[in-house]
Order: sequence, then structure tokens, then C-alpha cells
Amino acid sequence: MVNRTHFRCLSCNYVIGCRTQFGYGKEQVYTFPCPNCGVNLGFTILIDQENISWAYEALDNLKPEDFNTEPSYLLNFSSCFLVEKKNLTDLPLTPFLSNLTLVSDSDAYFKVRNIRHHAAQEFWPCLDRANTHRQRGDFDKFMSEFRSIKAHEFIPTFETGSLREIIAQGYEMFGSIFSTSNEQERKLIESRIDIAVESNAQGVNDLKNFFVLEDRAESIFNQLRALDRQWVDLYSFFEPLEIIDWLRDPKSLDSGDFTLSEKPIERLKTFYTDGFETLGRIFVIAACYEGICTGAGVGVPSRSRLILPQEFEQMPNGAKPNLISSMPFWPIFVDVFDSKLRNGIGHHSWRYDASLDIIFYQNHSPSRGKEDFKISFLNFCILTRKLYHCVTVSAKYLHSIWV
Ligand SMILES: [Zn+2]
Repeated sequence: MVNRTHFRCLSCNYVIGCRTQFGYGKEQVYTFPCPNCGVNLGFTILIDQENISWAYEALDNLKPEDFNTEPSYLLNFSSCFLVEKKNLTDLPLTPFLSNLTLVSDSDAYFKVRNIRHHAAQEFWPCLDRANTHRQRGDFDKFMSEFRSIKAHEFIPTFETGSLREIIAQGYEMFGSIFSTSNEQERKLIESRIDIAVESNAQGVNDLKNFFVLEDRAESIFNQLRALDRQWVDLYSFFEPLEIIDWLRDPKSLDSGDFTLSEKPIERLKTFYTDGFETLGRIFVIAACYEGICTGAGVGVPSRSRLILPQEFEQMPNGAKPNLISSMPFWPIFVDVFDSKLRNGIGHHSWRYDASLDIIFYQNHSPSRGKEDFKISFLNFCILTRKLYHCVTVSAKYLHSIWV
């Protein structure tokens, strides 16, 4: 649905009308430049989807204005589709139609988009409840949730093995629904694990035992689930980006003409950071499998010696790529595991400029000093989405030692 409301800019006093196409997220954050004076403006819409009611909250440099004053500008927002920046104050096409012009096969696009929407809304809550019953050891309730998962006919069966094995398969299935283009990467990881098991089963067993100690594996498993939860909570925001898999011209988003209306910057920062840190922990498993594959032993081979798992685990995540960048799995993660971006998020210099729609950040290091970086908001969102996809791929490593 589309809702219209009027605000007054606290900086220049102009009245601005805002037409917003709501998504289905409970909390939708919008940030934009004042079309007259350029300051960052913003509001958050809180939506009660069950009772179909909403409220405009957290006004940033804005105050509410009644409908008697004709606005100087009418702005258009959409939570459901990518928006064209040049159409912020003018709407020749609806976002829906402008998105359709980018898509090569609209039937396939909407079909897959619906499946992913359904997975986030229906499949994941079932998995989450089943996992709770597993933790409580309630076999009957687990199986009853499991049967309701099977009712989602687009999900292949995965009912083999122990409750841990079943739930791990369920979560991997959930992740693969969103990252269907990562099958090659999943196969590569599977084959590395298989090679390690074939070449040194005892070594793999020792690796498992290390991760059972102090509940390491359980703790990473829970970290992955917390990340899934953030993904599901943010999914209404990410949904317009599903178009990436169906673009007629893969470069059509490079022009900088498109962006996302919603700007949940703080939640995205947390999501990127948590995804980065989770991957950093899973790299310990991945690297130790490679140590086993090469015959070096259970650990991470370096030029001079074998680094034991606990030592590699304690290294800062940003330093880990130095030791794993020549390993076969690294190309899967090289684009998304960006230590400078990760450090920039934690730094007070991080800043979103609404008029440019660009994020500015800094990285400080002893060797290179202070460096300035920028990334468009759209590209940050694309990268964060891809990071989550890569985490779901890497889950295979964790599950192989957790089940
Ligand atoms: Zn203004």
C-alpha cells in the first residue's frame, strides 16, 4: 500500500510531501536529503502488519505538517523495489514498472522472489521452533514442526540422521534458497572436507574434538542462527535486491541511478560486522581442513611451521587472510571479507551522506596510517547480502564438525 504524509524541514522550513510504498517489515527507516537545502532528513515507519496500522516515528530534522499546506516537493519512496534517484521528486514510472524494464525473465524473477519471501516468513520460523525443541530434547514437538516444514512443497526432503543432522540440513537448505547461484562453492567445500576425511580420518576426528571442547562448535552454531535471525528480520529490506539474479544487463546497477529507499544503516552495520566475525571463526575450521588435506596435520600450515587451531583461533580476524589467501576456499570469500570495511564500521568516522547516497569511512593501521574510503549505499547493501550468502555456504564447514 502507498501512504502520503506531509513534513516541514526544520532547517529551511519548506513543506515536503512523502509518498511511501510500504513493505512488510515491522520497522522501515527512510533517510533522504532535503530537496531544498540538502540536510539529511529522515523518518521511521513502525507497522503493525496484523492490525494494519502504522506510525511515523523518529523524525530527523522534520516535524509533522497538516495536509492544508501544499508541499513544495513531493518525494516518492518504495520498500518493495529499487528506486531511481532521479525520480525522487518526480514519478514518471512506478518503481514496479521501472524494475520490470531491468529484468530478463519477469516470471522466473517473481517466482523465485516469492519462494524466498516465503522461506523468510514461513520456513525459517518453523526451523527456529524445531531447533528450540531439539535443544529441549522434545522429540515429538520437533517432529511435528518438521512435518510442517515438509508441507512447504518447494523444499526437498532432508529427513535423514540424528536431530542435529536433520536441523543442520534444514538450515543449509534455508541458506541455499537465497543463494542458488553458489552451488559450485558448496560443492568445492564438500569436496575439501571429503578429501580431508579420506586422507586422515583421525586428524578430522581430532579437529572435531577440538571444536567440541569448551562448546566451540555449539557457540558458532548459535552465532550462525543469530545471523539467520537478523537476515530474516531484514529480509523485507533486502528483497528488492533479488532482482540482481535476473538483470537483463548485469551492469545496469553500476550506473549509480538506482538505490534502495530504506536506509536501516545501524542494523546493516551490525549485520555486516556479525557476518564478518562469524566467517572469521569458521575460517579456523576451513584452514585446519586444508592443513589435513596437505598432510601438514591438524592446523594451519605457514612458511615456518604448523599453527595450531587454538593459536589461529585467537588471531584477530583481520589478520587471518594472510595465512589462508592461497587456500582453495579463499576465492569464495575474498570479495566479502573486507577488513578495512569492518574496521571502518567500528570507527567513529563512519558517515552516511544522504545527498550523495554514499558511505564514507576510514581505516587506521600501523603500517598504512589513516586511509579514506567510500562506498555507495547500494553497493554496501549488495556486499552485505553477498556476505550473508557466503556465510550460508561456509556453514557446511561448521555443520561437518557440529553434527
Ligand atoms: Zn530543508
